[in-house]
Amino acid sequence: MVSVVLVLMNTYFITQARDMIFSSKIRAARTQAGVIEIALGDDALTTSYVSQIISRLDVSQYTNVIVVDNYGRQLFGSGGTSIPEAVDYHENVALALSGYDISYSSFSNGTFETGAYVPVMHDSVTTGAIFLMEQDAEQGAVLAGLQNTVIRVTYLVVVLSLILIALITLTLMRRVTSIIRGIESVREGEYTYEIRVTGNDELALLSREFNDLTRKLRETENVRRRFVADASHELKTPLASIRLLSDSILSSSNMDVHLAREFVTDIGHEAERLSRTTEKLMKLARLDSDIDDRSKAVDLKNTVKSAVRMLMPVAAETDITISLNLADDCLVFASDDALHSVVYNLIENAVKYNTEGGRIDITLTHTDSTVVLSVADTGIGIPVEDLENIFQRFYRVDKARSRAAGGSGLGLSIVYSTLLRYGGSIEAKRRPGGGTEFVATLPLYEK
Ligand code: ADP
Repeated sequence: MVSVVLVLMNTYFITQARDMIFSSKIRAARTQAGVIEIALGDDALTTSYVSQIISRLDVSQYTNVIVVDNYGRQLFGSGGTSIPEAVDYHENVALALSGYDISYSSFSNGTFETGAYVPVMHDSVTTGAIFLMEQDAEQGAVLAGLQNTVIRVTYLVVVLSLILIALITLTLMRRVTSIIRGIESVREGEYTYEIRVTGNDELALLSREFNDLTRKLRETENVRRRFVADASHELKTPLASIRLLSDSILSSSNMDVHLAREFVTDIGHEAERLSRTTEKLMKLARLDSDIDDRSKAVDLKNTVKSAVRMLMPVAAETDITISLNLADDCLVFASDDALHSVVYNLIENAVKYNTEGGRIDITLTHTDSTVVLSVADTGIGIPVEDLENIFQRFYRVDKARSRAAGGSGLGLSIVYSTLLRYGGSIEAKRRPGGGTEFVATLPLYEK
C-alpha cells in the first residue's frame, strides 16, 4: 500500500498538477490573443496601427507577441523582432492564416513554455495572425519545488516503513521464538511452560492453543502419576498382607493347625484380590489401547438377563428383590463381553451397596437413536460431592466397605471407558427416596 501511494504521489499527482498548469496557461494565452484580435477590430492591418493598438494592452507577461499579415509578413514583434525558435513557427502561422487556432504548452528545464496562434478575421476572411509565447520559470520553480517535496516525503516514508517493518519483524520473531521454545520444552517432557499471549492475531491463537495443549498434557500427566501411585498402593496392600501372614506362619515353630489354615485361607483371599485387580487393570489398559475389539450387534436385553441370572443368588443372600422392565429390540453395536461387564458391574454395585431387603429396578428402553439402561437401587446412596468422581480409577466413597465387599474401585471406570468407546455415556443420580440410579446410554444399532 505504501509503495502504491508513493508511486501515485510521484507520477499521477505531479502529472495532474503539470497538466492543470498547462491547460490554464493555454487558456490564458488564447484569451489574450482573442483580446488582441478584438482590439485590432476591422481596420486594415499596418505596422503602425498594430503597434499602436498593442501598446495600449498589457502583454508584458508574454516573451513574444507577433502579428503577421495575410501573407505571413511580420507587422509587429515584441521581445525582439527575431522569429522565436518555438516549435514549427512557420507551419503554425500558415495554419493560423488558414483559420485554425493552435496552442501548446510544455515543461522542460524548470520552465513552462506556452504558445498560441490565432487567426485575425475580417468578414470571415483571414487578414492576419497573432502569435503569443510565454516562458514562465516562476511556475516552473513551484512545480519543481513540489516535485522535490514529494521526493523528500517519499524518502522519509520509505525510511519510516523500513523501520516499522524491522520492528514488526523483530516482535514477530520474538513471539515465534517463544512458541518454538515452548514446543522444545514440551518435547523434553516439561509441561509447565506457558506462552505469554499478547494481541488477537493468528500467533496469539497459536499460543493460546499451545497453552491449552500443555494444560491438558499436565492434567493427563497428573492423572497418570496418580493412577500409577494408586495402582501400586492397591497392589502393595494385599502383597503386604500376604507377606505378613506368611512371615507369621514361618516364624512360629509350632503353630496351631487351625490357625495356620486360617492364615493360609487369608493368603488365598488376598491373592484372589490381587488377581482381580490386575485383571481389571488389564481390561482398562485394553480399553485405552483400542485392541481386541470384536464388535457385533448385541441385544442388551439378553445381556441384562444373563447378568441378573448370575447375580440373583448374591442378591438373595441379603433379601434383595430385582425387578426387570426390559423392552425388545434394544440393539447396540459393541463387544458382547464388554457390554456384559458394563451391565454386570452396575447390577453388582446395586447389590453390594444395597441394604438388607432392598430393591433394584432395572429398566431398558430405546428411542429412535439411543438405547437407555437404568439401574436404580434403594441402597446406601452416594453423597452429592462424590457423584462426579466415582467414575475415576480407584475412587471409592467408603474404602472400608468397598474393600470388604471385594471392590477394587475400578468397576465404574471400566463401565465409563467402555461406554465412551462405543459412543455412549453414563450418569449417576441420587434417588429421591434414597439410593442411587445409574443411567447408561448407547447409540441404537439399526438393523
Ligand atoms: P468398587 O469396586 O469399589 O465397587 P466401583 O468403581 O464399582 O468400585 O465403584 C466406585 C465407588 O462408587 C464404590 O466404591 C462406591 O463407593 C460407589 N458406588 C458405586 N455404585 C454404587 C451404588 N449403587 N450405590 C452406592 N455407592 C456406589
